[in-house]
Amino acid sequence: MPDSAPRLPPSGSAYDLLVVGGGITGAGIARDASLRGLRVILIEKDDFASGTSSRSSRLIHGGLRYLEHGQLKLVFEASAERRRLLRLAPHLVRPLRFVWPVYAGARVPFWKVAAGVTLYDALALFRNVHRHRTLSARGVLRKEPGLTGEALRGGVMYYDAATDDARLTLANVLDAQRAGALVLNHAAITGFVIERGLVTGAQVIDRLTGETAELRARAVVNATGPWSDEVRRMEGAAHRPRVRGSKGTHILVPHARVGNHAALTLLSPVDGRVMFALPAGRFTVFGTTDTFTDASPDQVRPSEDDVAYLLRAANTFFPSSELARGDVISAWAGIRPLVATTADSPNAASREHAIEITPAGVVTITGGKLTTYRIMAQQVVNVVCRRIGAGRTSITAHAPLPDDTPARDAACAADARAAQLIIPGLEWRWGELAWAARSAHAATLADLLIRRTKLAFETPDHGLGVAGAVAEYVAPLLRWEGAAVRAAVDAYGAEVDRIFGVDAGAGV
Ligand SMILES: Cc1cc2nc3c(=O)[nH]c(=O)nc-3n(C[C@H](O)[C@H](O)[C@H](O)COP(=O)(O)OP(=O)(O)OC[C@H]3O[C@@H](n4cnc5c(N)ncnc54)[C@H](O)[C@@H]3O)c2cc1C
Repeated sequence: MPDSAPRLPPSGSAYDLLVVGGGITGAGIARDASLRGLRVILIEKDDFASGTSSRSSRLIHGGLRYLEHGQLKLVFEASAERRRLLRLAPHLVRPLRFVWPVYAGARVPFWKVAAGVTLYDALALFRNVHRHRTLSARGVLRKEPGLTGEALRGGVMYYDAATDDARLTLANVLDAQRAGALVLNHAAITGFVIERGLVTGAQVIDRLTGETAELRARAVVNATGPWSDEVRRMEGAAHRPRVRGSKGTHILVPHARVGNHAALTLLSPVDGRVMFALPAGRFTVFGTTDTFTDASPDQVRPSEDDVAYLLRAANTFFPSSELARGDVISAWAGIRPLVATTADSPNAASREHAIEITPAGVVTITGGKLTTYRIMAQQVVNVVCRRIGAGRTSITAHAPLPDDTPARDAACAADARAAQLIIPGLEWRWGELAWAARSAHAATLADLLIRRTKLAFETPDHGLGVAGAVAEYVAPLLRWEGAAVRAAVDAYGAEVDRIFGVDAGAGV
């Protein structure tokens, strides 16, 4: 990939803080720290949000289901963050109405659901978007006529919020950059510089050019989510695993087949787990599964069993949808980086986060949620500031997240081609690709089609049919010439297989 200007700073460059991992956690930390005046570098080995942070249910939620496990503190904290994000980033976080239909014999009976939403509103200090309402069976069907009415006893309506996980991550990255951070995607930490037993820097490789550098930092944060034990091994000393991975799969199907109006909270007909049907424009997303896994976060993919599990729920609750395997437009999976747990099921494992300073002095954060990323970042940077004796008070509880919509719109107004839809019927325009390549660190077709747009999720071929045209369009911006255009398309094919390929099931 020819790019004359080196992206890495010269070896020996020194920072207050080196953040490893550009998912939502690392992006939030980089933003919080640079807004406090620290000299920050953020290193992400693939693309920003390419790990778990582009594979979530895209909810900013208090986590109603965590009440079942008595996690009141988490729900209280997440509800406060939901309220904050609705205020500070209204362009990225919008209210979402949920209906929870309750059927006869359900694992969670009506009285418990009703008590749960009352407590949920209370833990949000009654300052959620609206308060919940209980519904009769007829009331549920008026709201959601596609649901089966058989054995329906009633339901509740309550509120949470929805976001675009990859875009929320990118907004934090770009704001960190605006505040002075150097942010690099497609650059990996390959080892740490260790002096007298303490980590004082890291070796970095630019995966686009092969260039390497050794950087220095007064503090290092490991924010690599499901990779955090792998990165921790670079510190040298043996340690017990701190993360236990749980795989979650989603499927996307045409909305017209399901016809849901709001989001639905459902109990799986297979095992009674809480799951969701989520509106996503012309589509409905069903998810998620929740199974402990030892799969590498680099290779995690859905299985046919996961897809069958989700389709069974879809068809049970929306019988007239008659969804078959061929109706699934896309399926994808991510790994929840849960704090290592002895819980029997991932469902019961806590979603709280843990901050730890390793013997080599690396501040490591594990667990947590998309919803709570801001407060997690604030706490991590508090630890960093204490360690290095620098940095002002955090301002992210009050600082709005900048809106890049006007810049994207301006790119789409640049010329007639920029204004055109890439695929008719889907919202993505050519100009957005130009904006992403110029101003939002997109360097590969996967960055463009999976994370700067969601085109890969919304087409059965995951954008392979337009990949060649997209490569030609962005080639001048990314300085791809000759064979590089073909190579970009081939690399995209491999990425599509890595993320959207579905493994054979065990047939359970
Ligand atoms: C199926 C599913 C649904 C979910 N739904 C929700 C939801 O609706 N709401 C919610 O609040 N939370 C949800 N979560 C949880 C949430 O998505 C995660 O907690 C969050 O995205 C984790 O972010 P992270 O930054 O810690 O990890 P990641 O996003 O995985 O980021 C870690 C990054 O580190 C990078 N990295 C790894 N090794 C290196 C290295 N050597 N050098 C440089 N970089 C490296 C990786 O490439 C990766 O990008 C869900 C999770 C899953 C799996």
